[in-house]
Amino acid sequence: MKKTILITGASSGIGKATAKLFQSKNWNVIATMRNPKADMELKNLKHVLVTKLDVTDDQSISDAIHKGIKEFGNIDVLLNNAGYGAYGPLEAFSKEQIVRQFDTNVIGLLEVSRALIPHFRKNRNGMIINISSMAGKMTLPFGALYHGSKFAVEGISEALSFELEQFGGRMKIIEPGAIATEFAGRSLELQNDETIIEYQDLVTKLMGNVKVMFENAAEANLVAGVIYEATTDGTDKLRYTAGEDAAVIIENRHALGDDAFIQEIKKQFGIQ
Ligand code: NDP
Repeated sequence: MKKTILITGASSGIGKATAKLFQSKNWNVIATMRNPKADMELKNLKHVLVTKLDVTDDQSISDAIHKGIKEFGNIDVLLNNAGYGAYGPLEAFSKEQIVRQFDTNVIGLLEVSRALIPHFRKNRNGMIINISSMAGKMTLPFGALYHGSKFAVEGISEALSFELEQFGGRMKIIEPGAIATEFAGRSLELQNDETIIEYQDLVTKLMGNVKVMFENAAEANLVAGVIYEATTDGTDKLRYTAGEDAAVIIENRHALGDDAFIQEIKKQFGIQ
């Protein structure tokens, strides 16, 4: 029987590329987004339901799930992909900005999962795939919010894997490196306060570092391919890196240990 995946944040980047890949592999796709009216592409594909879901809006979560089940009868896989990056000195952020980062990247992911798990449990089957990041395994200066949210995704996902296994469900974590999407553009909330002179040198270095990282960014299709592999490989493997940079950096942290790895980051930023 044809399988069905529900994807959050399918309006662009990794979510959209994954929607197209799964559709081409003969899956039903519930492509959810905050503003479905803006979609001009996915709605024209067969077996794709484009519908509204804002991960910070509980009603839109349950409406999207109900619509998806009504259309396709069942949901087999949830891809928690929606997210964005807030970077900058903590002092420069308002409480609203802090809450929005965690509401979207963490609480949103928990709420969509919480809404779908009873369906998975009833079916004694179901997979949750959480988009973490190499940013969930290492940090950069001024990344307290974004890295904090992705470290949370790592811990949440690992702990949930035990829970899902109790009824035959499965968890997968995807850790992409730099990927050419809207992430380094409209999905990057850069906050600074130029009057705090102590940070400005390091802020400039961070900007330069991010620019270089994204000059060699991989395509969103690469991540979509890794997500498809994670969904279909039939293994209990929990974590999948996507991109050469992510594989190298995560392996380095593992090999060096925390303290030596952090020293390397300091060297890279000229902090000694
Ligand atoms: P994009 O900016 O292209 O996509 C982000 C998506 O998240 C958009 O569809 C956006 O929707 C959606 N989104 C944001 N807030 C909400 C919300 N409240 N409810 C529903 N959807 C929301 O970037 P990516 O494709 O790169 O990002 C996807 C995921 O990949 C994120 O979790 C990101 O952290 C992660 N990631 C990205 C990397 C990269 O280098 N690109 C690296 C590692 C991880 P809208 O169109 O409405 O704004």
